Amino acid sequence: MDLSRYIINVPDFPEKGIQFKDITPLIGDAKAFKYTIDQMAAFAKAQGADLIVGPDARGFIFGTPVSYALDLGFIPVRKPGKLPRKVLQESYDLEYGSNTLAVHEEDIKPGQNIFIIDDLLATGGTLKATINLIEKLGGNVVGCAFLIELDFLGGRELLGNIPILSLLHY
Ligand code: AMP
Repeated sequence: MDLSRYIINVPDFPEKGIQFKDITPLIGDAKAFKYTIDQMAAFAKAQGADLIVGPDARGFIFGTPVSYALDLGFIPVRKPGKLPRKVLQESYDLEYGSNTLAVHEEDIKPGQNIFIIDDLLATGGTLKATINLIEKLGGNVVGCAFLIELDFLGGRELLGNIPILSLLHY
């Protein structure tokens, strides 16, 4: 299935120079969305995932259906101030701006095999911060999956040897 037909490139959003990849047509199409989730779920299963983690907010859109498909739990990594219990936080730079992410400390158990899902790999900052949070809590990151990877930003170099699935490359 050619998923690129469901991605709209929006130039200069949210600021000049950014080619924003709008994924909303893909998630609005039943067949394209199901195909995407099925591909991600097969890859996560093959890596031996026993928990899915997704970063705020588009990681939730793709991560939760994968966790449902594989009978696994889902743990959100959120923007600061959203999670009510004790959190571990990590700050990082984005393709545009900077961000901080937080996870409930109790939600990741030492030795768990964690699979991370997000919509798009750009600079890799979001994923690296998510990996750092998981590893600081003793989790074992077994792989990650994205709908889109922006190859020219070289984000995968930040991720080390972790197996990566990207369904579309730009
Ligand atoms: P990064 O931390 O640079 O890898 O950026 C990852 C997050 O920023 C992704 O989860 C996207 O939601 C968002 N993002 C970054 N660049 C773009 C882009 N060109 N189009 C759409 N979303 C983007």
